[in-house]
Amino acid sequence: MRLILLGPPGAGKGTQAARLVEKFSIPQLSTGDMLRAAVKAGTPVGLQAKTVMDAGGLVSDEIVCGIISDRIEEADAVNGFILDGFPRTVAQAKALDELLAEKGMRLDAIIELKVDESALLARIEKRAADTIAAGGTVRADDNPDAFKVRLVAYREQTAPVSAYYASRGVLKTVDGMAPIADVTKALDAVLG
Ligand code: AMP
Repeated sequence: MRLILLGPPGAGKGTQAARLVEKFSIPQLSTGDMLRAAVKAGTPVGLQAKTVMDAGGLVSDEIVCGIISDRIEEADAVNGFILDGFPRTVAQAKALDELLAEKGMRLDAIIELKVDESALLARIEKRAADTIAAGGTVRADDNPDAFKVRLVAYREQTAPVSAYYASRGVLKTVDGMAPIADVTKALDAVLG
């Protein structure tokens, strides 16, 4: 099962992806998580990505496509994967088409979680509060200023990705405003 989960920051992609990981025994490939790990490890990619990530902007297509191209070939992804946070631009979606074709792989589903923009900031703030309550470290970009930039990046660069897949008739949508368990059920229904 090879899936893409699309949706704005705070839509619940990570939460739902974690459930699909259990269900299908496939890894969740979050470019955000991979980039944060690179920043933490101080790798050349991490050093390049940190400033733009902290501000809420997008890392270059070249960097993230390279990361994904390598990652989907790893042994744990042999039965599939869930892409979370990638593709984030139409150029990334086109690069993904090409690299999947080269590797002889095809996507099974592309699903967008639809969420009212007005609910997103509150969700991000809740995520930060929950992280603090659990004794964790809040993401450097889970603050109102970076969030505004992330939302603009979403509107201008990532919303067209949904349009790209919709125009090819392969986009499915699920109501991401419903309670978490209901969103999970709706995803199950879409995935058959
Ligand atoms: P996320 O965890 O998906 O919200 O991603 C956190 C940050 O990582 C984003 O705001 C971007 O700076 C960067 N990032 C993650 N995925 C991508 C991507 N596919 N393309 C460009 N930048 C990305």
